[in-house]
Amino acid sequence: MERFARPHHRRAVYLTVSSGIALRTADLAERSVPVDAHGLQGEVGHLPAVSTAPEAVRSLTCPCGGTGHVSALAAGPALPHVAAALGVERPEEVREALSGLLRAGDPAAQRLLATVVEPVAELVRTLCCLDPRIDLIGIGGGYAEGLGEPYRAELVRRVSEVRSYADRDPDRAAGLLRLCRPGEVDPMAGALALSRGALTVTKR
Ligand SMILES: [Zn+2]
Repeated sequence: MERFARPHHRRAVYLTVSSGIALRTADLAERSVPVDAHGLQGEVGHLPAVSTAPEAVRSLTCPCGGTGHVSALAAGPALPHVAAALGVERPEEVREALSGLLRAGDPAAQRLLATVVEPVAELVRTLCCLDPRIDLIGIGGGYAEGLGEPYRAELVRRVSEVRSYADRDPDRAAGLLRLCRPGEVDPMAGALALSRGALTVTKR
């Protein structure tokens, strides 16, 4: 994430959308990653998903045992289950087929993409609402990176929706969100920064 940060950025978030979903926020001014007393921060994958999908989607089981969690709808392993709940044909093949179907403009594929992106977009909206210092959000992880531009475009579209007086700058989402390309974010770089003291983990 360091390579994407600019001097005026106050906080940067890295949200991984992969086999699970979680995020970490770094305070760039303090050069710190704040965590709670248990060393945790940003375990958002097991929050209830905000979704307008049918009940069959919203009641999907999460690997943690819960129901309707963000990971149950929006993580990579959830895709065939969401597809089946939406009545997509051959849901077990959808992971391999989805990119091609989206390029072809398939309406069922676009609905599926919108369904799996929605809980992530709602997380982003909540993050930005609660912490106005977030100036950069990197989206990574094999699932989101693999879908690439269609994923980014749907996420930006959702986050840019004007719903109330608080959404004064709908164009901000495009500048705020960055979909990482495979290999663009190196987790080892963060580990090295921590080991060198260039970045610290701060507990309360
Ligand atoms: Zn869960």
